[in-house]
Amino acid sequence: MKISTVLSLVGALVVLQNVSAAVPQHFSDRAKELLADSIELSATAHQVNVVYFVGNDMKPVADYRRRISELLLYLQQFYGKEMARNGYGSRAFGLPMKENGEVDILLLRAQGPHTDYPYSGGGATKCLQELEEYFASHPEARHSHHSFIIMPTWHDEQNNDKNPGGVPFFGYGTNCFALDYADFDIKHLGHDTPEGKLLTKWYGGFAHELGHGLNLPHNNGTRSLNNSLGTALMNNGNYTFGMSPTYMTPSSCSILDCSETFAPVDSSIEFYSNHTAPAVQDVSLVYDGDNLKLSLRSPQETLVNAYVQDPPYQVNRDYDAVAFRVEAVGEHDAEGMVPMAVSMPLSELNGLQNVRNGEQCVDILVGGSDGSRFRTRIIFNWDNVKPGDNIPVGELSFSEGY
Ligand code: ZN
Repeated sequence: MKISTVLSLVGALVVLQNVSAAVPQHFSDRAKELLADSIELSATAHQVNVVYFVGNDMKPVADYRRRISELLLYLQQFYGKEMARNGYGSRAFGLPMKENGEVDILLLRAQGPHTDYPYSGGGATKCLQELEEYFASHPEARHSHHSFIIMPTWHDEQNNDKNPGGVPFFGYGTNCFALDYADFDIKHLGHDTPEGKLLTKWYGGFAHELGHGLNLPHNNGTRSLNNSLGTALMNNGNYTFGMSPTYMTPSSCSILDCSETFAPVDSSIEFYSNHTAPAVQDVSLVYDGDNLKLSLRSPQETLVNAYVQDPPYQVNRDYDAVAFRVEAVGEHDAEGMVPMAVSMPLSELNGLQNVRNGEQCVDILVGGSDGSRFRTRIIFNWDNVKPGDNIPVGELSFSEGY
């Protein structure tokens, strides 16, 4: 046997050992298959708090620790691979892990019956209050500002394991809510069966809501990105994840890059401590006949994204916002201000009805390395815009949040 052959056999053995170490023996065969091409992810300084919250009259759904662990680890790989593809390294949200390779899920028994925690009517707020109380008395259980809370489906006239619901299912602030039911199992992923379709609905939702809980707003990719990569997760990817190609936009990844649970293990950043928007200057928006050109100057290490959108602009009417990453186009000046710009081709604004016809807006999102984000909005009417025009941006004031 040649030495090179021996070396490649040794290499293959090492890879196999890594895979078997990463995927626990007691995971399902389907999970082992899906996690076989796992990439090695960077260790993180902070992890998402994964909480399984159960009304005091309910039991967790059978085998939840294995099922939720498999689903979360596969999702972590999706986020990690998308971050790597977008140039941010093999990095994903950190998860608290147990020695047996499962995610360390905090089982929290609610103070009240499950009906105290409905989808609407304050159920989420009440749950978060109880979680805060728990963290206050168990500070070691809190791994970051970000909590991912899973509740078992209700069983009543409307809701059951075949039609799960009743519980909160959304993301806001640094928290997000998802649900669990009997067939919520990665073994159904991608299958054209009732269980497979149901899994995409709730697992895609789980993936999308977690995005919100990790700081992401709704956004769509450009026409080119959608043509080559499918559906953006923070657009309608909650309906495609697991069934057809689904991806993360560069702008989503630029926000995750500054999100707490993605921070490298040596990070000493105090996350979300800054509540003042980076002092952006000289914002200009020009229409050159083919593109909207946004330029500005921002303090160093400021993240800047732009989103082009049709009215109405409220949250949950913003899935269509086509997102662009605004890039540095020169060195910083003596004051530390960096010129930044992006050219947004009108031909890339897929899904928008009002291109060159009616009202649109360009939102500018700026963020700091501590994960804080601020937005401002430029609204204009295409009826008043000719090629070569400088679109008036008015007095821009940034507000914190999405
Ligand atoms: Zn959403």
